[in-house]
Amino acid sequence: MFRGENTILHLKPAPLNSGISFVRVDLPGRPRIPAHVHSLANNYRRIFLKHNDAEVECIEHLMASLAGLGIDNIEIEINGREVPAGDGSAQFFVDILKKAGTVDLGGTKRVFVVKNSITVESGNANIMAVPYEKGLSLSYTLDFQGSFLQQQTFDIEFTEESFCKEIAPARTFGLSTFIEEFRQLGLGKGVTDDNSIIVHKDGTMTKPHSMKPAELRFPNELVRHKILDLIGDLYLANVVIQGRIVATRSGHSLNARLAEKIVNLA
Ligand SMILES: [Zn+2]
Repeated sequence: MFRGENTILHLKPAPLNSGISFVRVDLPGRPRIPAHVHSLANNYRRIFLKHNDAEVECIEHLMASLAGLGIDNIEIEINGREVPAGDGSAQFFVDILKKAGTVDLGGTKRVFVVKNSITVESGNANIMAVPYEKGLSLSYTLDFQGSFLQQQTFDIEFTEESFCKEIAPARTFGLSTFIEEFRQLGLGKGVTDDNSIIVHKDGTMTKPHSMKPAELRFPNELVRHKILDLIGDLYLANVVIQGRIVATRSGHSLNARLAEKIVNLA
């Protein structure tokens, strides 16, 4: 999505308790990068994974798909540093993972039960995790504080079915003000008219290149995408969360900080 590299992914079965890992097949020694908060690095509002000198980025939509489908052991071979953007949502990954199918390896899922509330915050963004008996519930409030769009909140009881139907198809978006910045950094080359939405200051939404009006998959596609990112980032804790997560204005770095806290408490 960012560099527009053409990479190929091979999603391969992995044994019980081996977890989720990326293998950079293009680098000498085929280094393995665990998809875990311990491998986290960040740079320019994005997070990426780094283990020794090997890096992989744009992992969040794939991670969300794995979380959504309950996949906890998989080896992902990749021949470059950037996971393909696909259609800018998790739909692309959900479709191929469903087609390949999953196998129950026995074992028990690692579950993190939120027993006491946990908060992470940064500036005017925050996330709270509170106890919730019925499973995982997520809420996200998108709030540009007066510019771009009106405040939107989306709330979902997380199940494989609700994830696939309500969250997975929601595509990524960018604010018009950041797009220029990104282009100047040489990023954003993988952005196409079909895989992302640009939000302009007056609240209009267009395709990024042709500037034609964006055709939204849901009227509130953007806030749903923020939940998709949250699910993907939290899955770097490699656990199933039982709790209610309430996020306001959070992005990848703050989401990942909550994942780190969860790992430290687990
Ligand atoms: Zn995203």
